[in-house]
Amino acid sequence: MLQKINDLLNEVSSISVKNSEELELFRLKYLSKKGLLAELFEDFKNVPGLEKKDIGQKLNLLKQNALEKFNSLKSGFQNQEETIDGKDLTRPSFPYSIGSRHPISIVRNELIDIFTRIGFTVSEGPEIEDDDHVFTKLNFAPEHPARDMQDTFYISRLSSEDSSPEDILLRTHTSSVQVRVMQNQKPPIRTISPGRVFRNEAISARAHCIFHQVEGLYIDENVSFADLRQTLLFFAREMFGKDTKIRLRPSYFPFTEPSAEMDVSCKICGGKGCNVCKHTGWLEILGCGMVHPNVLEACNIDSKKYTGFAFGMGIERAAMLKYGVNDLRLYFENDLRFLDQFKTAF
Ligand SMILES: [Zn+2]
Repeated sequence: MLQKINDLLNEVSSISVKNSEELELFRLKYLSKKGLLAELFEDFKNVPGLEKKDIGQKLNLLKQNALEKFNSLKSGFQNQEETIDGKDLTRPSFPYSIGSRHPISIVRNELIDIFTRIGFTVSEGPEIEDDDHVFTKLNFAPEHPARDMQDTFYISRLSSEDSSPEDILLRTHTSSVQVRVMQNQKPPIRTISPGRVFRNEAISARAHCIFHQVEGLYIDENVSFADLRQTLLFFAREMFGKDTKIRLRPSYFPFTEPSAEMDVSCKICGGKGCNVCKHTGWLEILGCGMVHPNVLEACNIDSKKYTGFAFGMGIERAAMLKYGVNDLRLYFENDLRFLDQFKTAF
């Protein structure tokens, strides 16, 4: 009997099963009520007293080994049932890579946030426009160089000499949206128009054929240049910090009179002069001015009763000043190594 138990001990330790049916056969053979173990325990009753101790120990060892084998095989099968084609379905998934907002979107949203806090609405308009909304109503003379094919992407043009209202083009500035607002709303008007604009420029670090603008317009009775200055000072301090200074330099745009360009004090050197501000202490940020009476009249607004101011800036320019990224091309290449750096921005 001792020999038989030893044989079974070897058998149990070397046994392997391929599936749950074979496992059940193993259980029936060894552990069931009519199995080998039950049979051996039955026989054990007839073992002579002297041999009982040795055989009893071996028999208990066999029972223990058989149970352990069964349990370990069973748990092996349970794990296997949670896999499909070798893939463990209970394994935690790979973490999702969280995307980030594009820096242009971040700055655009910040600009919108600043101006909507002081009562500006947001207006949008078509990117494909006609000459009338982009140039004529904004007081561009028929021969103005901005109408040139070298500056403007035309979709259809009747004649290269005389511009006609039927000329269809990609808008070169978002002032076209302001024209549509003035045509459709009565003053007071207080709105900003963010959007994409297109110019026929060779792509370089400093110029691109696509960029983004935010333009602002405020028309009401008694709007003055002082209102313009104060609005822009508020903007500059919200955007670049409360110690930011601004300065206005005389300039020229067809649609404003008088016109100015605005600089903000260089945040990097605090106005002392550095490479970024070309040692002037100032950084150019936007163009602005009082809306030209011709523009108001062209949009059916009484220029004797109403005055207004307008301003416009490139979002890329604002982003450059904010993040210190001074190659325009980076904003359009969608290189994840560049975009990933803005994950912590809002
Ligand atoms: Zn500086």
